[in-house]
Parts: sequence; structure tokens; C-alpha cells
Amino acid sequence: MTSKSAAAAARATVHGYPRQGQQRELKKAIEGYWKGRVGADALRATAAGLRRDNWRQLAEAGVHEVPTGDFSYYDHVLDTSVMVGAIPARHRTAVAADPLDGYFAMARGTQDVAPLEMTKWFDTNYHYLVPELGPETVFAADSAKQVGELREALALGLAARPVLVGPVTYLLLAKPAPGVAADFDPLTLLDRLLPVYEEVLADLRAAGAEWVQLDEPALVQDRSPAVLNAAARAYRDLGAPADRPKLLVAAYFDRLGDALPVLAKSPVEGLALDFTGAAAANLDDLAAVGGLPGKRLVAGVVNGRNVWINDFERSLATLGTLLGLADRVDVSSSCSLLHVPLDAGAERDIDPQIARWLAFARQKTGEIVTLARGLQQGTDTIAAELAANRADLASRAGSALTHDPAVRARAAAVTDADGRRSQPYAERAAAQRERLGLPLLPTTTIGSFPQTTELRTARADLRAGRIGTAAYEERIATEIRDVLAFQEKAGIDVLVHGEPERNDMVQYFAEQLTGYLATQHGWVQSYGTRYVRPPILAGDISRPEPMTVRWTSYAQSLTDRPVKGMLTGPVTMLAWSFVRDDQPLGDTARQVALALRDEVNDLEAAGSSVIQVDEPALRETLPLRAADRAGYLAWATEAFRLTTGGVRPDTQIHTHMCYAEFGDILQAIDDLDADVISLEAARSHMQVAGELATAGYPREVGPGVYDIHSPRVPSALEATALLRKGLDAIPAERLWVNPDCGLKTRGWPEVRASLENLVTAAREVRGGL
Ligand code: GLN
Ligand code: ZN
Repeated sequence: MTSKSAAAAARATVHGYPRQGQQRELKKAIEGYWKGRVGADALRATAAGLRRDNWRQLAEAGVHEVPTGDFSYYDHVLDTSVMVGAIPARHRTAVAADPLDGYFAMARGTQDVAPLEMTKWFDTNYHYLVPELGPETVFAADSAKQVGELREALALGLAARPVLVGPVTYLLLAKPAPGVAADFDPLTLLDRLLPVYEEVLADLRAAGAEWVQLDEPALVQDRSPAVLNAAARAYRDLGAPADRPKLLVAAYFDRLGDALPVLAKSPVEGLALDFTGAAAANLDDLAAVGGLPGKRLVAGVVNGRNVWINDFERSLATLGTLLGLADRVDVSSSCSLLHVPLDAGAERDIDPQIARWLAFARQKTGEIVTLARGLQQGTDTIAAELAANRADLASRAGSALTHDPAVRARAAAVTDADGRRSQPYAERAAAQRERLGLPLLPTTTIGSFPQTTELRTARADLRAGRIGTAAYEERIATEIRDVLAFQEKAGIDVLVHGEPERNDMVQYFAEQLTGYLATQHGWVQSYGTRYVRPPILAGDISRPEPMTVRWTSYAQSLTDRPVKGMLTGPVTMLAWSFVRDDQPLGDTARQVALALRDEVNDLEAAGSSVIQVDEPALRETLPLRAADRAGYLAWATEAFRLTTGGVRPDTQIHTHMCYAEFGDILQAIDDLDADVISLEAARSHMQVAGELATAGYPREVGPGVYDIHSPRVPSALEATALLRKGLDAIPAERLWVNPDCGLKTRGWPEVRASLENLVTAAREVRGGL
């Protein structure tokens, strides 16, 4: 019987592991190298040591086959560009002179050369460097990194499986190189790329790889028949050579859908699929295509993206079904563990009872090993683990933290009316004009002012007990006074307090809301050497007391001009946190929204006439599959409206989003029913203003005229030109003048000059109206 042989072979593996090390040694070594404090050899030694520690840890935990090649000095997609020789022309000299420095130049740019563009890796908070390709691209295999890391693991006596970004995903993630026609389709390079992959695979085989994993997460998105054909061709060709390693194609983050039969039919020896969350649909889909006879199935039953313990019984049931559908079933995480922190055991400040609900990379590895053992040797061999798992799940389900009756009753009582302002937009706009008395083309900023070293030091000093609360608060108050004085002098119309008291726009609120957990060591890679510590939405959310009223009121007390209250919206609070897996996201969003609604109402009561609710994550949280988008947008916009729906008609609600590809959420933006929206637009020459105008967006818009991602100071002339462009799309009565985003990463000198130029530009254009 198939099931018996499959069970006998069940093995534990993972797709990848956090790279940074327990103490973020990798970050320190790389940043030290950039500053010239760490030599190249020392950096290489640190990296090799971290890889070795990870593999040993995995092997000691009972993982049978460790991944290799998932390590990176910066990003695995950039590593793939190096592997296939896709070095942009502008970086070739640097790469030839010194591969390591050239690599970092591609990642970060230099004084003279721009880096590769960075964007989000699917719907995670990891960012990759976008390959730049064109008709002239010549690929050439460079398997040194992959082969070297494989050899390191094999030398430890471990069974190892190199993990590569697959060729189809690589091309789908690429964009036309600068100077190449915008409609150039990188996928047309597939035939040129495949021989390079064949060469790398042959090199890995020669170095001792039995299996090689090719990651194709791009195939879990809606794909055209042309793309599916390309995938079929790719794996037919890669499967052809006689002397090659066995191929395992991995797809994760969602169900494979139409790409499943394509891969199932291809001449590869195995598939690694995600069976968590929405991707659990893979189970039925797999049965529908008749399973994977003769193939290996690596079953991702342990979620590689959340921080919660697995439900063993549910996973074992899934695995049991899968046994009948493949030749051999192995147990794995759904995706690389890169997206979760390293070790929940390192958290000392979390209540031990609650800590038992948490599983970071280490704990997830243990779960995978346990499940593989249960599958292989029978569930009675894991009876103790099963009992403990059941008890932990029960403690979580029955906890007062996860089930606060007051929060639940309030959420259940929400009606449509709660999310509706008392007057339609047009009437509100008139009332607001009357109350605020702003000039045409009013000027404002997005919220934060420079987070100076002094501010950061003050916060660190407070945390370390070197200064007291009073001294810290005096520091914050002084900063607010300075920020306000500058804005008044510069002639800005709607002021902000500058957010000096906020460490981070999500964490600041998470720390004050009940139901949120903070971690001490829960770092995950955002990009390169930047790591973030997302808070954890662990329980029902409530707001014990006002969070921003004190500093906002203080700021308002210093000026006659309106000071914008400044909050992070519910969707962004979810998107940049670890979310619950025991209730629908929409339920969590609603709880957060109700807590924020109280804050909005309190700000209004304390005198705020303008309140901004930032939702930079609205677009990026959009589900990967189109069919799931309407459901998401429904709860997301409801949460925003619930947050803002309780204010008077003459209180002006602003929202802000950064990223500029709004084509598919224009309707949702309108559905937010905000009065004013500010967006990133400087780099795209106000493109978004045109898009909103074409879509008939009826409200006020502030397309950014100052690109805050660069230290460059835009001249008044430049800002004037952008504003005129904005006026082509949006009438003067509805156009605001503001930067692209918050100013927290910028320095004061450039901020001062840029905002002065921005006000000059607004006055200039007003004068000509
Ligand atoms: N109000 C926030 C700030 O100015 C907005 C940041 C963001 O959009 N990412 O910093
Ligand atoms: Zn922004």
C-alpha cells in the first residue's frame, strides 16, 4: 500500500531559516563591514558560523534534510540575480572589481550609482531587490554561492537540499531594466535562462546534491495560460537532463490553483505545497488531480508566517489524507521560516502561560519533527506532545485574553450606521471649509518630523533608567514646541506635532492597547540589515485609556492653527503585526477599529478639528488572488469607517497611503469616505492625481510634491511644476500641498529647506489662480 511506504519514509524539513543569528550577529557584521570596522574575511567567517549553527540546531532538533543556499548577505532574489549573471550594466565595474562590494552596491547603491529597486516579497513584510532585465540581458551561471553552501552542510555530515528561486518566479518578479521599453516582458527570456539553471543544477549534482528545491511562489497568484505554459515548459526542460538532481518545486503563500495540474504533470520528482490558511484548499485540489503518484510531497502544515503553535490533530489529519495522494510525504513549514522570529524561548517578559501558545522558528522546527515522527511511527509515539498541544490550544481558546466579553459584545453590536458619517461628503466639505478657513492649496505634512539622535537617545535612556519620565517628557515637549515653531514660521497651514514620542507608528499604539504583546527579541528581516519586531495581536483588543490626546492637545495649545491628530489605521495595525489565527482577520480589524474610534472621538472632544488616520498598508495587504480581494476590501474599509465614522461633519478626516500603485483599489479608497487623502506622488510626477481624477474621485487630494525617500531638497520651482501638474487633474478647491510621506528618516536641514520651498510653491501657484 502507498500509505505504508509513504509513512515509513516521512521526514522533517524546512524551506529556510532566519538568517540573523540569536544576537543579530549578521546585521552587526554586515553593518560593521560597511563602516570599515569588520574585514571581509571576518564577515565571511561570521556568516559561515551562523549557517553552521543553524544547520546543527536543525539537525539536533531532528530535521532530516536541512536547506542550504537560503542564507543571504542581503536578499535571496539578489543572490539569484548574481547566480544567473543578471548584473545591471551600471554595477558591472563594481562587481568585477570586488564581488562582495559590488553585491552591496547593487543592494544599497553608492554615491554615484543607484541600487536595484526594492519591493515586497508577495504579501509578506520581507522586501527583495527587483531584477532588472531587458532584451539584451545575457545570463551566465555562477553557482559558487549555492555550491559552496551545499558543501559546508555536507561537510557536517548532514543531508542537505539546496533551495533556489525558480526560473519562472525569478522572471515574474523582474522588471524592465532602465532604458528598456516598459512593456518588455521578462518572461520572454525564459529560454535563455533555463540553460543557466540547468548548469547550476548540474554543478549542485556534481557537488553532491540529491535533491534541489526550486521555489515558485509566483505560481500561487492568478496566472494567464501563457504563464502556465511557460511553467510547463520550464519544468519539462529542467526535468529532461539525465544527470541532474531530483527536483522539488515549492509553492507557498496560497493555493496553487491552475498551476497545480501543470506542476503535477511535469517531470519533477516532488512538490512542496502550503496547507495552511487559505492554501489548505491545496488538499482538495490535489485529490482532484489524482494526487502525485510516484512523487514526493513535502507538506507545509506548520505555518511559516504566524507565531502560533500548530494544531497537531488537524495537521495529522491533513497528513493522513496526503499519505494516500503521494508516493512519499514529508513534513515541513509552509514556507521559509525567514518570516518569523527565531526563538520564543528567548522571551522573558511574556507570561509563561501565554508563551506556551507561541511558536517561532525554533519551536516550529520542533513541531515539524514531532509531526513527522507521529506520521512515521504512529501517533502513540507522540502521545505526550499531543496532550501538551491539546492543553495549550485549550488554554488559549479559554483565556480571558483571547475572549474579552465586553470587547466581543461591542463588536457584535456594530451596525452600518456606526461606520457612516452623519452627513454626505459634499455637505461635510462645506462645513469643514467654514470651520477651518484654510486658503486654497492648503499646506500640511504627513505627521512625523526628523527622529533625531537626541530623541532616540532619550528613549533609550528612559528605557535603561538613565533618565526619569519627567526628563523624557520634557524632551518630547521641547521637540513639539520646536516643530510647531518651525511650521508656523514656514507658513504651513495645517500643523502636526511631529510624532517625537513614537518609536514606531504601530508599536506605539500596540504598547498601549490591551490584547497586544510586544517581544524583546522577536526580530524578523524586513530587508537587508533592517529587522523589525512586529507586535503580536494575541487577544481581544481594547483601549484602557487615551493614547495620543495628551501630546496632541499640548501641541494644539501652542498655536491657533489646526494641529492634525495623528493615528495609525486598523488595517495597518494588522498588516505590520503578527495576527491571530483563531478568528477571521476582519474580526480582529473590527476590534482594533473600535479602540481607535474611541481615540478619534476623544481627540475631537479635546478640540482636534483635523484627524489623520494613516493606512499605508491598505494596498499591500490586498490578497494574492483576485477572488479573495472583495472580501478583504469589505472588512478593511469597514474598519476604517468604523474608526472615523463617529465624528462631527465639520471635523476633517484625513488618510494617508504611501505606495502608489492604486489602480485596483481606487473604489476602496473612495469607500473609506475620508475627507482628504495624501499619497506618494513626487517620483511618478503626480500620476496618482490623474488616476484618481479619471476614476471620478470626488474628495480632496494631497499628491506628494516632495520625495522624502531622498535627502535631495526639491526646489520651489520643481514643487511648483508638480503642483501645476496636480492642478491639471484636481481642481484647486480640492488640492492639498504636502510631502510624499512622514519626515522621520530625514535630517532637519533638508526638511527645513524642502518645506520652505513647498510653501513658496503653494503661494506662487495660489497667486496665479
Ligand atoms: N504619520 C506617519 C508619519 O508621518 C505616516 C508614515 C507612513 O505612512 N508610513 O511618519
Ligand atoms: Zn507614507
